[in-house]
Amino acid sequence: MFLEPHFKGQRSGWIEVICGSMFSGKTEELIRRLKRSRIANQVVEIYKPMIDTRYDEVKVVSHDSNFIHSTPVAKASDILKVGENVNVVGIDEAQFFDEELPDVCQELALRGVRVILSGLDMDYLGKPFGPMPALLSMAEYITKLHAICSHCGNLATHSYRLIPNESKVLLGETESYEARCRTCYAMGNILDFRKRETTAPEGEQTKLDL
Ligand code: ZN
Repeated sequence: MFLEPHFKGQRSGWIEVICGSMFSGKTEELIRRLKRSRIANQVVEIYKPMIDTRYDEVKVVSHDSNFIHSTPVAKASDILKVGENVNVVGIDEAQFFDEELPDVCQELALRGVRVILSGLDMDYLGKPFGPMPALLSMAEYITKLHAICSHCGNLATHSYRLIPNESKVLLGETESYEARCRTCYAMGNILDFRKRETTAPEGEQTKLDL
């Protein structure tokens, strides 16, 4: 469990990254930290990339429908327009931002802002995702969360794409992805066939494909 560092005297900025696969609870953890900041009378602003429109235009929503209001922005540098009175900046779906995001976070931290990011560390191919490697390198605090592998029950680190689509960004939920451990991820679609025999027929599910 992450506990907020406590600094005596002058306020000090820093960067926290919450990472992991899909369904690992990243957004829930981001929301938890932001709510605790508000309880501590901190002024909080939340941003998310405009690309992420799965649930709601202006809310950061976790899979269990916990939500907090946020501002969708087209590019990372827009976050620098945040008010000078803001103590904490939350950034959800950080992997979808452009490569300027690490510099933006660095500038905010130097201004004294506590920056908390949540994002996928790997894409569906198991490769580092967008600005996440740089953010993980520069963060003071990193929390890596794990989902549960939907095949074997071990800790899951990978987001396995269930439907054929080669685009890097495919927004979706359980109909498009499942969390898998390293071994089950490596087994690929061999496991898909096994699962299809035991689940409901396809065709009634929808996907949001960009
Ligand atoms: Zn597994």
